Amino acid sequence: MYPPLRGFLRRCHEQFAADDSGAVANYIPELTRANPAHFGVSLATIDGHVYEVGDSSTPFTIQSISKAFVFALALETLGHERVESVIGVEPSGEAFNSIRLTGDNKPFNPMVNAGAIACSGLIHQHEGDGAFDLIHRTLGRFAGRELDVDEAVFASERATGDRNRAIAWLLRNYSVLGDDVDAVLDVYFRQCAVLVTARDLAVMAATLANCGRNPLTGEQIISSYVVARTLSVMTSSGMYDYAGEWIYRVGIPAKSGVGGGIIAALPAQLGLGTFSPRLDSHGNSVRGLKVCEALSAHFGLHVLNRS
Ligand code: GLN
Repeated sequence: MYPPLRGFLRRCHEQFAADDSGAVANYIPELTRANPAHFGVSLATIDGHVYEVGDSSTPFTIQSISKAFVFALALETLGHERVESVIGVEPSGEAFNSIRLTGDNKPFNPMVNAGAIACSGLIHQHEGDGAFDLIHRTLGRFAGRELDVDEAVFASERATGDRNRAIAWLLRNYSVLGDDVDAVLDVYFRQCAVLVTARDLAVMAATLANCGRNPLTGEQIISSYVVARTLSVMTSSGMYDYAGEWIYRVGIPAKSGVGGGIIAALPAQLGLGTFSPRLDSHGNSVRGLKVCEALSAHFGLHVLNRS
């Protein structure tokens, strides 16, 4: 589809590997062990071609990128009315770990921690003890393979995640969560510790770009209705308090995670997955951001530019 693509990705990789600004996440102690030099890029087209450069098969934790897929799973499993009754879809303009709720005491959107914890709570209410298994299996179906969990990262965040614990108890206070707050937090921490590679992320993003059908396995995972809603919140809130800059400059629905990953999903065309653990002040991967910007500019991929 894009003949000069492989060369372009190689040039991007070479150019941006020289940028060592930003720093690996350190508020989850285990994440400080990440190798800041790692840099992988992968792009999957909706017709099933996968391109890879650099450390594209190095595993790292998915972190907040899981939020997009768990939101999709909640919509698919519980329907939009139930989901929308407890979680908003408004950008918060604040950091991912903000503890502030909307005027009617809901999380602003499913891409910030409060909304994602509420989403995990909905799945937990529906599935009980099977909640994490369902999430884990679903993430694997998006990636087209079974994914592992980094138990050390899970334990590390569980031991230190008091801010998320405070958010969850606030949600309990407003009946967004039920009585099983600790169990829901365990689901949330564990979903953030699922291991992926840049290649996995590209395939997962390409599945969103392909109306919910995995372009490698051919499996329909979620409906196109759910995909449209998921891509909408990724567009408005996927990059936290950088979301406005992102849609202006890059113009592709995206989601980042503090493990250093970014996905970008261009409907009907492609999915991009990047991995580089050095983050900027918003918690977005510095090099990943640059790759997305360069790709969008070079191939004219901004979704609002249809010339
Ligand atoms: N597990 C992380 C947290 O809740 C995820 C945050 C992120 O990737 N932005 O803080």
